[in-house]
Amino acid sequence: MSEEKSLNFLEEIIENDIKDGLHSGRVHTRFPPEPNGYLHIGHATSICLNFGLAKKYNGKCNLRFDDTNPVTEETEYVDSIKNDIRWLGFEWDNEFYASDYFETLYNFAVTLISKGLAYVDDSSAEQIAATKGSTTTPGSDSPFRNRTVEENLTLFSDMRAGKYKDGEKTLRAKIDMAHPNLLLRDPLMYRIKHEHHHRTGNQWCIYPMYDFAHGQSDSIEEITHSICTLEFIHHRPLYNWFIEQLGIFPSRQFEFARRNLTYTVMSKRKLLQLVNENHVSGWDDPRMPTISGMRRRGYPAEALRRFSDVIGIAKRENIVDIGLLEFCVREQLNKSANRVMAVLDPVKLVITNYPENTSELFAAENNPEDPESGTRELPFSREVWIEREDFMEEAPKKFFRLAPGNMVRLKSAYIVKCEGCIKDENGVVTEVHCTYLPESKSGNDTSGLTVKGTIHWVSAAHAHTAKVLLYDRLFKVEDPSNEDGNFKDYINPGSMQVLDTVYIEPSLAFVTPGTSVQFMRKGYFCVDTLSTPDNLIFNRTVTLKDAWAKEQKK
Ligand code: ATP
Ligand code: MG
Repeated sequence: MSEEKSLNFLEEIIENDIKDGLHSGRVHTRFPPEPNGYLHIGHATSICLNFGLAKKYNGKCNLRFDDTNPVTEETEYVDSIKNDIRWLGFEWDNEFYASDYFETLYNFAVTLISKGLAYVDDSSAEQIAATKGSTTTPGSDSPFRNRTVEENLTLFSDMRAGKYKDGEKTLRAKIDMAHPNLLLRDPLMYRIKHEHHHRTGNQWCIYPMYDFAHGQSDSIEEITHSICTLEFIHHRPLYNWFIEQLGIFPSRQFEFARRNLTYTVMSKRKLLQLVNENHVSGWDDPRMPTISGMRRRGYPAEALRRFSDVIGIAKRENIVDIGLLEFCVREQLNKSANRVMAVLDPVKLVITNYPENTSELFAAENNPEDPESGTRELPFSREVWIEREDFMEEAPKKFFRLAPGNMVRLKSAYIVKCEGCIKDENGVVTEVHCTYLPESKSGNDTSGLTVKGTIHWVSAAHAHTAKVLLYDRLFKVEDPSNEDGNFKDYINPGSMQVLDTVYIEPSLAFVTPGTSVQFMRKGYFCVDTLSTPDNLIFNRTVTLKDAWAKEQKK
């Protein structure tokens, strides 16, 4: 993969602004999540972008909770968002809440009313929609559009005081009902909602709309570059209009394309449905595209940051192959995860010429990619577990694993020769029998033999058991949101496979949640958050096979 060396379009803008001495060359960004769900990988790229630009240009980045909608927002989400950002490796310069600005925003609204640029409208939501016009026809003025400033001031104050019911009145900007941009046809600034807010409690019953909160919040914080996703491009003139009419700090908005990922959905509304309808175990289910799900699954923060760098930023919506993310995950884990042995689908291998009631310890390298990682002790004895698929009674020629007469090396131990097997009455293999060559001991092999196959194993007398969860894509199709019908129709019923009895080497007995290891030949696995030494649970993070890299070589 080639590194992106040239500047992206936002860096170009910023560097020009610095050259021009705009805002004394200061760079101040913000990440503005709405606390109505957990963050997903799309947010992660936005976090990397906003915090990354601030870092690159010696600037600052605020965390601002865009909490202007009391109905969907919760403190649980605020906490999870902060946790996820820190885990990704970023720290905000200031923590703000749009709700902290409610009083200031109210006063901004009063200013606009006083300037004759806003009015209280008694029309219902339906009436307002009906008079909006269309892209080809102008809208029509509300009958309440020409109220006097005094009347508007009184009514707005009464709205705040709770004299009206939800929906009875709104505050609208007085711009132009024939404006070519529909968002400027007297947009709503405030609506009445008698709702409890997660921070301001019952202090307010009127709440500002996104368009009358976001730009103003940017301006209050003196944000220099307010970066948002492409769907807000048509909001930009309105963003500027409010700032200009109020004569406040001239923050500017820039848009980039939303990031989507194949085989998943990314809208919080849809993710919430998956959680509420128990299609997954929660927001942090390892199959979820949420940061918390990916963390639980074992995706390293470095891999998410790397992914964000590699995909860069675009001006057009696109959908990124999940294989690219997995590539970044493997690249990182290959460097950092210790290699261990675990047998997922066990069958017993008996080494008939090895003494009974004896064992020996081998020193095994933890990670050949990391010379600092050291070695660990691996006990070996007469009976070991191997993968059922590593034995075939009647094997094709190129089967370089165990078959009668074949020799393989047991990783870090000895070369063994397969002598046969024992089967139960149904013909299922219950034991594989081998003899070993004492002179083939790893590290001190004087046998002179070379064998084509090396397989992993776990000493039966020393094995611990664990539960292992294997994951597949959560959806059967690349873009479930773009298919006919409901996105939930495309959920992959086989997205999780549970293996209840997996044998693992004893060095794993006390691994703690969050630890990543490579089960040799089987993939990267991460110790689950619910795992305890008495009840070990591993999630498969990703397989070892690299489908994406192969795709690139074609
Ligand atoms: P969703 O549609 O998933 O609910 P949202 O845009 O409503 O997302 P916010 O909490 O408002 O979620 O988003 C916070 C920031 O993250 C915004 O600046 C938004 O532009 C950015 N963001 C959200 N989704 C993506 C995405 N898929 N790709 C890039 N940035 C995103
Ligand atoms: Mg949003």
